[in-house]
Amino acid sequence: MSSSWSATVLTLFPEMFPGPLGISLLGKALANDLWSLDVRDIREHGLGKHRAVDDSPSGGGPGMVLRADVAAAAIDAVPRNDCPLIYLSPRGAPLTQARVRDLSAGPGAILFCGRFEGLDQRVIEARGIEEVSLGDFVLAGGEIAAMALIEATVRLIPGVLGTHASTEEESFAAGLLEYPHFTRPQDFEGRTIPEVLNNGNHKEIAEFRRRQAEALTQARRPDLWNHYEKGLSPFEKKGR
Ligand code: SAH
Repeated sequence: MSSSWSATVLTLFPEMFPGPLGISLLGKALANDLWSLDVRDIREHGLGKHRAVDDSPSGGGPGMVLRADVAAAAIDAVPRNDCPLIYLSPRGAPLTQARVRDLSAGPGAILFCGRFEGLDQRVIEARGIEEVSLGDFVLAGGEIAAMALIEATVRLIPGVLGTHASTEEESFAAGLLEYPHFTRPQDFEGRTIPEVLNNGNHKEIAEFRRRQAEALTQARRPDLWNHYEKGLSPFEKKGR
């Protein structure tokens, strides 16, 4: 019986998994069935003796394109179980912490990893596949993007990290970048820890951290800052 969060990955390189997802707290959580990982080889649905999965682009141009029929067969072999079907793609909506939080609250995700020039457009439309991007850069394949999505999502599942509370104040949770951290030694090469952090006054500390988070966000991420300024301070809303 498995009601835990389930990741299904469709890839031409199943040997890449679990890879980093099998390490540390995520790996422990995987072993303890807090989440599950089902990795499937797209090539099992390849055509002919050579199990071909790709062909040259219609209209010409460099590289190869993943065939729609092969991709559809691989996708259709996966039980859907109400999971979103996602193609990791640089053309997709950039992944955000809000989306990650939504995903972690759901039953899981089915992740299709592209290779070569990408996936035939028709299967994206025919199967209603959602495209999600890791950012504005181009990877060689969708696998590392899938791993990043899984890691960001699984760490929010209750019980995976030591203290669940630690995900509530981190970067993006409140629409801001996180405040800077300090720990011993008190003096590092002449730089000391801000005095307020040593005084034990929790209200002052929270206020100091909020100001630092705001200043950092304003300086580094005007896009986030704009958004934050328009809305209510999520520091007062708490959670989401
Ligand atoms: N020709 C494509 C890039 C293909 S890269 C284009 O210009 O848009 C090959 C595969 O790597 C893609 O099919 C996709 O699955 C994956 N990939 C590349 N960059 C990515 C990104 N930023 N986010 C998510 N997946 C990405």
